[in-house]
Amino acid sequence: MLSLSKETEYYNNIKPISVGDISIHPEKNVYIAGPCAVESEEQMQRIAAAVVGMGALAIRGGAFKPRTNPEAFRGLGVEGLQYLFDAGSLHGVPVVTEVMAERQIDLILQASKNHKNHPFIFQIGARNAQNYELLSAVGKTGIPVMLKNGSGSNIKDMIGAAGYITHGGSPVIMCERGISTFNCGDPKKCAGRFTADLHAVLRFQEEGFLTIFDPSHAAGRADHVVQIALAGVGVGANGVIVEVHDDPQHALCDKDQAISFEQFHTLINTAKQLEQVMRASQFIY
Ligand code: PEP
Ligand code: MN
Repeated sequence: MLSLSKETEYYNNIKPISVGDISIHPEKNVYIAGPCAVESEEQMQRIAAAVVGMGALAIRGGAFKPRTNPEAFRGLGVEGLQYLFDAGSLHGVPVVTEVMAERQIDLILQASKNHKNHPFIFQIGARNAQNYELLSAVGKTGIPVMLKNGSGSNIKDMIGAAGYITHGGSPVIMCERGISTFNCGDPKKCAGRFTADLHAVLRFQEEGFLTIFDPSHAAGRADHVVQIALAGVGVGANGVIVEVHDDPQHALCDKDQAISFEQFHTLINTAKQLEQVMRASQFIY
């Protein structure tokens, strides 16, 4: 039977991961939203208020940004962490933020401590999916890690990468964010910025990983993000992480793929309806 129903043995092997009051769970979908980069205190507060109000269970925002071009905005660093954790604390939701280098691990831990040990998830970005020193170091913290697939990494590569993290004790949440194919690049000339690898969601789950889907970096253009996100939910991802901005056209990072509050509203409401249809047909729990 083609399904992720209770009878599907591998699905029963996926263990929930608690982060503060929320649980990333095989039977529930988590929606995580926020800007690509933390840009200011006000921006972070505005976006957090909007997305949490619409049902996001955690917020995202990069303080350390890996940029293809060093001239581009590379994040606010420690100041950005403060704004992100401020917003998470105020709205009572965990935060997700990228760690790019070993020395940033302590800075992020410290930001959490400064906010009464506010719960968070470390994000490992696509570019660091094979940075084994970093993977090992972050794994030793015991804090949950959302591991994004490298754009050129296959399933075996990613299981190996996850092993470096879990070896130290941190649980891993896989994040499928698109792969490099002949049909990706400029999202106006090709199919997308990357190619959403829907099969990989099922394969990561088969390997025992909770798997969250990132439509933003796959699509690379805002007008495709909602549809691609729904495809991820439809295939049975355990949640969606999406880039949302209060003024997408002026986002300092990844502006072409930043969706508006209205688009996020459509995304989360339609996704929840889709979940219901899937549950009713016992396609998922
Ligand atoms: C991001 O989440 O903003 C990011 C840089 O993602 P990725 O590592 O998937 O490119
Ligand atoms: Mn981004």
